[in-house]
Amino acid sequence: MPLTEPDQVVDLRSDTVTKPTPEMRRAMAEAEVGDDVFGEDPTVNRLEALAAERLGKEAGLFVVSGTMGNQASLMAQTQRGDEVILDESSHIFNYEVAALVVLSAVQPRTLRGHYGILDPEDIRRAIRPPNIHAPRNTLIAVESSHNRGGGTCYPLETLREIRRIATANGMAVHLDGARIFNASIATGAPVRELAAQADSVTFCLSKGLGAPVGSVVVGTRVFVDRARRARKMFGGGMRQAGILAAAGVVALETMVDRLREDHENTRILAEGLATLPGIVIDLARVQTNIVIFTVKREDLDAPGLIVKLAEHGIKAFAITPDSIRMVTHKDVNRAGILRTQDVLRTILG
Ligand SMILES: *Cc1c(COP(=O)(O)O)cnc(C)c1O
Repeated sequence: MPLTEPDQVVDLRSDTVTKPTPEMRRAMAEAEVGDDVFGEDPTVNRLEALAAERLGKEAGLFVVSGTMGNQASLMAQTQRGDEVILDESSHIFNYEVAALVVLSAVQPRTLRGHYGILDPEDIRRAIRPPNIHAPRNTLIAVESSHNRGGGTCYPLETLREIRRIATANGMAVHLDGARIFNASIATGAPVRELAAQADSVTFCLSKGLGAPVGSVVVGTRVFVDRARRARKMFGGGMRQAGILAAAGVVALETMVDRLREDHENTRILAEGLATLPGIVIDLARVQTNIVIFTVKREDLDAPGLIVKLAEHGIKAFAITPDSIRMVTHKDVNRAGILRTQDVLRTILG
């Protein structure tokens, strides 16, 4: 019997589907606001200061989305015709509508990471010495946790090495930390230590942290001033945005530590998947709240399995013809995970 009642749906498509908590809605309703383009929204200012403090940076900038945060960071740290080194499966290269080329007019130099995690040696080899023929190499962009990599994380020591290489070559580092708090929990490295290895960091309030809208970019005050101009150019100058920022403050203050639960749920889900016939999964890759697995069966491909899961009220995405991504978050509890396992066993067992 297909389940259709919304409260029985287990939505594993993304942690972006999370709804704001009652505390967030209260904070939003009561938020003090002002015109943020004039710098006069006290709640936005509070969120930016809080984010900067949590990540150990001088200043922060509230932006509409992770994409805007990444793109403002790229624009602030490059000039037209520069080259940016990044992983070929990165969000910036694959899921931001080629914005780096269109908005900042920089050339991507993609390297192949291991589940999205770049080898510092590969970066070192890719950096071009200054030459009249070559684009200037000004920025390295890394992503942790890595979305397409399946939630994989940079070890702190690897980020340190990349930072050393960047510094030695006069380059900056941008960290796409959409899920940096997940990465911090998974690696055991304090989020400030991770952030210290980059000049600019973007993180999302609207994913596992549960806020309805928004991301924050942090870095030096000089960097944030430049990123703020880019944000305005992109049409991202908001006015009484404190209504949104209020939820972000609650997200940072109350939602970070519980991300552990999502990691535990993902682990349980992944270990269950590993026992099913025709499912191929590398458990070493399952580090945070994302699991990506391959469907290798005669009777069913990944999109086919998605359709069958949907008949049972379980939503996920096929990201290739033979692979599926599931993402856990605060609006899927342990019971939902166990039910997902039961359904998978019924379909595949
Ligand atoms: C979600 C995500 C972003 C930003 O996404 P938006 O939908 O623009 O907020 C950026 N980088 C990574 C790694 C992401 O997972």
